[in-house]
Amino acid sequence: MAPTLAEQITPQLTASRPNLEINRLSPQIELYGGHPHRVETRAVTYLFWNTFVRVTSGDTSMVLRVIMRSDDDLDMVSYDVFQSLLSYQYPDVDRGNWERKIMLLDSRTNLERELEPGNRRLRHQQTTALLDAYQQLFASEIDFILTPVREGSLGGPGPDFTGRQFTRRQDRFDPHAWDIEQEVAIARMINTLITDANPRKYRKTIQEFREAVVEHYQVFAQPFVDLLNAQLRRLEFSEVVTNNSPVDASFFDDRRREQVIELDLMSRKVEQVVKYPYPTFSGFVYITLFNVWGSKGIDQEFEVVRVIQTKPLLDQIDGLRVDSNCTDGVHNLDSHCDCRQQLEMALYDYGLKNDRNVVIVQMADHEGRGHGTVLKGALQHAPVRRLQLQQPDMAVSHAQVAELVFAQADLPSDMRSYGAAQAVIRFLNIEHVTAVLTSNGDKVKALEAIGVGYRQVIQLETPNAQLTQEARNTLNYKQNGGRVTNADRKPINYSGSDQADTQ
Ligand SMILES: [Zn+2]
Repeated sequence: MAPTLAEQITPQLTASRPNLEINRLSPQIELYGGHPHRVETRAVTYLFWNTFVRVTSGDTSMVLRVIMRSDDDLDMVSYDVFQSLLSYQYPDVDRGNWERKIMLLDSRTNLERELEPGNRRLRHQQTTALLDAYQQLFASEIDFILTPVREGSLGGPGPDFTGRQFTRRQDRFDPHAWDIEQEVAIARMINTLITDANPRKYRKTIQEFREAVVEHYQVFAQPFVDLLNAQLRRLEFSEVVTNNSPVDASFFDDRRREQVIELDLMSRKVEQVVKYPYPTFSGFVYITLFNVWGSKGIDQEFEVVRVIQTKPLLDQIDGLRVDSNCTDGVHNLDSHCDCRQQLEMALYDYGLKNDRNVVIVQMADHEGRGHGTVLKGALQHAPVRRLQLQQPDMAVSHAQVAELVFAQADLPSDMRSYGAAQAVIRFLNIEHVTAVLTSNGDKVKALEAIGVGYRQVIQLETPNAQLTQEARNTLNYKQNGGRVTNADRKPINYSGSDQADTQ
């Protein structure tokens, strides 16, 4: 009898364990995590290898995602690879006069990895630049791509099955590690740009700011570059933030505001950091950045929550979505999901293009259902991609593998909690919305629990042509009797009337 998927998963779990060790490459550099990174375009599918390095500089640190070419069997253990690199025994390379080349991405803040700035003429310039870098890596023109990873997406705050915290507790208070300072700075510059009579001079300021962002990232990249004795290149996203769409500049506010919100089980301190309009390629959106402090001693640690709305006022809300941040898919174009399409459909297609006010509550700590990007990579991406390589005809679903693997590792399938989202929604006095845009019943329940009224739940469907093969496998699995959680007490509209007019 053919082995079941659960039986095939067990050895995969064992294979991934070595990659979850934290290894020290030098006094400044720790290495951990490892998984195949798959990027699918219409023309080509790349399969790379991802790992993470934490570089400490002074009393602060930054984690960089390292993307490199993978071996054919996808059984790379990152630590071994780097050990052989350090001793110059990289398997398939003629040492001759080879010099390692590292490409550092980029001059964007974390915000800008999620929303493509600029205007329609520049549509998807960031995506194009990323794909160019992947093409260069594939063609061996460069050996590694480094890109900063936001601290909170790595894993935690709960203990994981290796007993390790990939998000370091002490770094949760470092605004640099979160790009919070950078986001406030860019908010102020954009505000100047759209309110000043002579905006030209500020273009230069924004370019200088981008230089400063790259310099900041480079401080952390340099020890790794030195360790590998490599040459550093920079790929800059020179996108100038311009957009001539109408904008309400009075939305801007950079004064911090705090309020303690009492929820049923706990109280949360909501700290509004900055409010600003941001020019995306589809028009201006309005962003509010929050730190939401925890319940234990309230000042102990914070979650980052960003609210993105398509109109400046909240008096009428046509669509509300609680969005779990996905750095793999949205920042790095990993093909396992349709998170990026979901975000863009809600914001741009459902919202801006239809003159609707859509409010997205973006949970920055929710990567990998709250397990973080390191565990998600090693326990979900790696088994799926190894199985697919071994059995090319088998349609493997990330959702199904995640359920099996996390159960085998004795981990809850979902670690997310919505207290911070609830606190922010209360802070903003959102009481009624026309539609909740989600397919996740837990998110609907979280809204109901704080009394948010809604007329319907709409699941926005990514057009088939935009789905990658892996995302399609997951959707098929969910639609064919897998675990699909939907709101069970309110009517659900999957593809009905409201969908028709979003086309
Ligand atoms: Zn995703």
